[in-house]
Amino acid sequence: MQTVPNPVLECKPIIQVEDDRTGLSIEALKRGFLDNLFYVQGKFSGIATKNDCYMALAYTVRDRLFKRWVDTAETYTKNGSRTVCYLSAEFLMGPHLGNNLINLGIYDQVKQAIEELGLDFYELLEQEEEPGLGNGGLGRLAACYLDSMASLEIPSLGYGIRYEFGIFEQKIQDGWQVEITDKWLRFGNPWDVARPEWSVEVKLGGHTESYVDENDRYRVRWIPFQVVKGIPYDTPILGYKVNTANTLRLWAAEAPESFDFEAFNSGDYVKAVQAKMTSENLSKVLYPNDNVSQGKKLRLAQQIFFVSCSLQDMIRIMKGQKIPLEKFHEKFVIQLNDTHPSIAVAELMRLLVDEYGMEWEQAWEITTKAFAYTNHTLLPEALEKWPLGLFGELLPRHLQIIYEINGRFLDDVRIKFPDDFDRLKRMSLIDESGERYIRMANLACVGSFAINGVAQLHTELLQKDVLHDFYEMYPEKFNNKTNGITPRRFMVLSNPRLCELIDSKIGNTWIKNLHELRQLEAFAEDVEFRHKFRQIKQAIKQDLAEYIKAKNGIDVDANSLFDIQAKRFHEYKRQHLNALHIITLYNRIKANPNIDITPRTFLFGGKAAPGYYIAKLTIKLINSIGEVVNRDPDVRGRLKVVFLEDYSVKFAQRVYPAADLSEQISTAGKEASGTGNMKFALNGALTIGTLDGANVEIREEVGEENFFLFGLTAEEVYAKKAQGYDPMYYYNRDPELKLAIDRISSGFFSHGDANLFKPLLDTLLHRDEYMLLADYRSYIECQEQVSQAYRDVENWTRMAILNVARMGKFSSDRSISDYCEDIWQIQPVKIELSEYLQTDVDRLKIINEESFAI
Ligand SMILES: *Cc1c(COP(=O)(O)O)cnc(C)c1O
Repeated sequence: MQTVPNPVLECKPIIQVEDDRTGLSIEALKRGFLDNLFYVQGKFSGIATKNDCYMALAYTVRDRLFKRWVDTAETYTKNGSRTVCYLSAEFLMGPHLGNNLINLGIYDQVKQAIEELGLDFYELLEQEEEPGLGNGGLGRLAACYLDSMASLEIPSLGYGIRYEFGIFEQKIQDGWQVEITDKWLRFGNPWDVARPEWSVEVKLGGHTESYVDENDRYRVRWIPFQVVKGIPYDTPILGYKVNTANTLRLWAAEAPESFDFEAFNSGDYVKAVQAKMTSENLSKVLYPNDNVSQGKKLRLAQQIFFVSCSLQDMIRIMKGQKIPLEKFHEKFVIQLNDTHPSIAVAELMRLLVDEYGMEWEQAWEITTKAFAYTNHTLLPEALEKWPLGLFGELLPRHLQIIYEINGRFLDDVRIKFPDDFDRLKRMSLIDESGERYIRMANLACVGSFAINGVAQLHTELLQKDVLHDFYEMYPEKFNNKTNGITPRRFMVLSNPRLCELIDSKIGNTWIKNLHELRQLEAFAEDVEFRHKFRQIKQAIKQDLAEYIKAKNGIDVDANSLFDIQAKRFHEYKRQHLNALHIITLYNRIKANPNIDITPRTFLFGGKAAPGYYIAKLTIKLINSIGEVVNRDPDVRGRLKVVFLEDYSVKFAQRVYPAADLSEQISTAGKEASGTGNMKFALNGALTIGTLDGANVEIREEVGEENFFLFGLTAEEVYAKKAQGYDPMYYYNRDPELKLAIDRISSGFFSHGDANLFKPLLDTLLHRDEYMLLADYRSYIECQEQVSQAYRDVENWTRMAILNVARMGKFSSDRSISDYCEDIWQIQPVKIELSEYLQTDVDRLKIINEESFAI
């Protein structure tokens, strides 16, 4: 019988490994699963549903995670470790189960255990409803960063909102997008733990009063109209093959116990319960907009809600670790993921000054040493600003604080740039050019010690344009942090076949150090390796083809070039440029049915914001083109167009590995970084793209000969706009372009309805804000090069391998190391697993008196 040696205390009970309910042997895993099915789900196998089995498996994995989680929390608490707080309104985590198996290093054992129990392992993995608590790239970045922080053993907390309804589920009906509410919690969530004992209250609305305190100091008291309670739900975030398990802490809103006393006392029970419902609305639903701000009051309420909860939670943690509040910025560094949490600057000032009686100057010193701000966009419509009236109604005290910050800030600007009145107007935290607004990016810039863009080009454009005044004021604050992706989820989990091939040549340490993929360069010249690489891509494409057949009922040829554009639908991402290419190829076939073309399968995936009419019409257009092209006998199956419903992380994991060609065709100067571009290339797709966002750096890394470049540069786009851009010029001059557009406007793709796509065509022909027409010819010619290149199978494979080999820079581990070094000033903390098991009775003796009292 094996025992755990106990060198620390002889008197400790000796625990038998067989008693450990979290063992990793196949037998222990099977027993854990059956125990959880029985004790947690309360079912015998005869009536257990697929979901019961998924839940039992999830709990079995969770049980094996908790020791790491508890030991991590204990270590951080004992050491008072400096901690990164990543504040984000969105976390697009994707399914947890598979990822936790990878990071725990027990994927194969668990698979075997489940199969020995006679269950289909993959079917259980599929069962998980992913928490879609984000729109797209920004939320997914937050998720990749949590994975990398844990894997690099950086103490960190992710703070956000536990939306009851995440991003809507997309259905396609008659070619149109239909939105279905995402009830991700309906079968329960095995991955988070409620911590009601750490609830906090957040004030909203009402008015302020000034008073003089006992020390003769001027103070302000906020009398709120409403108080909302935030309950934290914690999810463990395990690092890859380390003991670190950090925490994602998401807040759910509830009414406090004492909600609406008056209504209760007057016997109006129903009114009182209604107040409860209003409170719960705060965390009810994720706003489904990507890269655009609607300026809705409920959205601002969500922001202050999770920000205030999180800051109060940090103060609670400091108290628990007996760290004085003056050291807030030494204990914590707070990264603001876009301006969504930037109200935190005013809220921390309010907490320090109003609630803890700190002097303004000291509070400002602490605040401006605690925050760092990541900008995510160059689109003017995405820069958040709140109408002053709305803002003051919800946050009267924050409005006063912002005025005070602004007054002092503008004094600084005046001193640095005397008599520059236009500059003062541009930099003011309050836009007074018409209706008055609070400018959240300006607040974030003034309140942060670091400001970063998410790709080299993006950071340059911020400095040159969007935040130029702030760059001149504080050049030392600006820095670039090019985005990255986690190779764990987007390779190890999603592309096991390619990983196996790579491992067979260079081992598996590349998973922690993606630069090691460089060693694959040599194998690009190896015929045998190329052959295997191709076989794998082919097998993955075949799987996707079968999935498409089952889902869409469309036959696609796995030998054709898989040309994929998968991302949110937005005019600047130019899915309609891709559509114009498809129509152009189709027109060529119609003109000459025997034309020699490279067979292609065009795959699209992505959601449009429910209120974004043109984006939804683009989805309809793509489906309409597919309907015609897929059945036209002249095409002879050489072109297929498929729209993949409900793009999500789960689905992304299936799609990225199957691509031959990655479409990254945004108007130069509009995409901040992109991360989809990285996922595709890492999985061996070649990119057709503009010089936008991180495409620039991807091309630099993989080599220009292994990247299909087209289109205007950002500078050329600006120059053309300045000259007075006229899309009709291109329409009238390029017959193929004209024919493609006329085919749409004639009603050819819409059963003769010439009006259906008119709004879309009007924007193209009369404004073309995103310059599709200017880039059309360059795109078409570049696609011809792609088609030619694909025919040279060996060389295409060579290029694809070189893409994989040269993607090292785009690991989110590299991004996070850069944040740690340049911004956060934080070191890794190793977690040693405690020697005794969590059932050790001695642990009970060291319960912290204060926390025990709660
Ligand atoms: C990576 C990812 C995105 C971001 O894609 P981009 O092409 O960078 O816009 C959006 N959604 C999901 C589900 C993703 O995995």
